[in-house]
Amino acid sequence: MGLDRSLIADVRSLSEPELRRLVILAQDLLEQRGAGRVPEGAKVTYRREEVRCGKANCTRCPHGPYWYAYWREDGKLRSRYLGSARAGRSPGEAAPTADGVEP
Ligand SMILES: [Zn+2]
Repeated sequence: MGLDRSLIADVRSLSEPELRRLVILAQDLLEQRGAGRVPEGAKVTYRREEVRCGKANCTRCPHGPYWYAYWREDGKLRSRYLGSARAGRSPGEAAPTADGVEP
């Protein structure tokens, strides 16, 4: 089952705050299903990244920066969105060294 076209159209029409809420909702659902969980003992790399939303007429791209956690699981690279990296916010107790990008 794929994403319904009308659902995609609905998502595209959302405002920025609504999109953020949707991201949080989707993240929660993924976590409930066991995805995006950093396994114990995994070597996690934190990166701050800017994200392009893909809208042709967006004047605010790139968005962010946001924190992402990266780790390897069964040989595959996994990532998890951790939230805004603005104003030097750290992604958690394991404060990373910012890789090149200063606030
Ligand atoms: Zn954008």
